[in-house]
Amino acid sequence: MSLDQYRAKRDFTKTPEPPPRVTKRPAGRRLFFCVQKHLASHLHYDFRLEHSGVLLSWAVPKGPSLDPSVKRLAMHVEDHPLDYGEFEGVIPEGYGAGIVMLWDHGTWEPEVGDVDEALRTGDLKFQLDGYKLKGSWVLVRTRRYGDNRGWLLIKHRDEWAGPVNITEFAPLSVKSNGNFEDILAADNPAIWTSNRPATGGETGAMLQKVVERALALKAERDKGTRGAAHARRASGATRAKRTQGAGGIRGARAAGRARAGHRRKRR
Ligand code: MN
Repeated sequence: MSLDQYRAKRDFTKTPEPPPRVTKRPAGRRLFFCVQKHLASHLHYDFRLEHSGVLLSWAVPKGPSLDPSVKRLAMHVEDHPLDYGEFEGVIPEGYGAGIVMLWDHGTWEPEVGDVDEALRTGDLKFQLDGYKLKGSWVLVRTRRYGDNRGWLLIKHRDEWAGPVNITEFAPLSVKSNGNFEDILAADNPAIWTSNRPATGGETGAMLQKVVERALALKAERDKGTRGAAHARRASGATRAKRTQGAGGIRGARAAGRARAGHRRKRR
């Protein structure tokens, strides 16, 4: 497995995405899977399965469905590094510019003996054990797309199948519990006041709202925390103490902001 395509598409001096590194992990470990909701030029869900030290990846425009009668188009895209699996944040510019939310994660298990063979034949059956997605699924290659990249993601009939619209029912991050505007507000919500990664159509309208709400959220938070920050400075609390003391989601966001700030300084 190679991350050459992943590397070629990105400028790692400009993106917060993890560097292209193949991770060898001991055999017998459970395999990782995740789904990242990605508000880029078009909203989609990136479905990723750990295999041979990388994440096999498919872009699913409508996201997974728990209804076995619904076949969701899944475009096979370049392998991603394993480190990408826990990534959530803002890609300011370049390839994939937009907001990435960790929508689901957990472990997966192939229901086939040889994953490479299943990839070649275009029929990969597997079990998922995530927060939102569970049970038996299949990715099957479709001839609808001539370049061989088109697959269908389908839920098998089992106790985890059902009529619930999972992307609407459970829209938030499993990492920060936030939505897109929370993730943007924790980073730099002013980044796309012009030159948005998506301008037209539904996604463009959605991104515009996300930017506006994130700016408002940030302004509100800055106003609300100014008094508290003053009190903390007076008591001589360190940044680390403040971050830990905040706890939970707010703590995670503060830590994210601290990391983002650190990253920006390093550039
Ligand atoms: Mn994507």
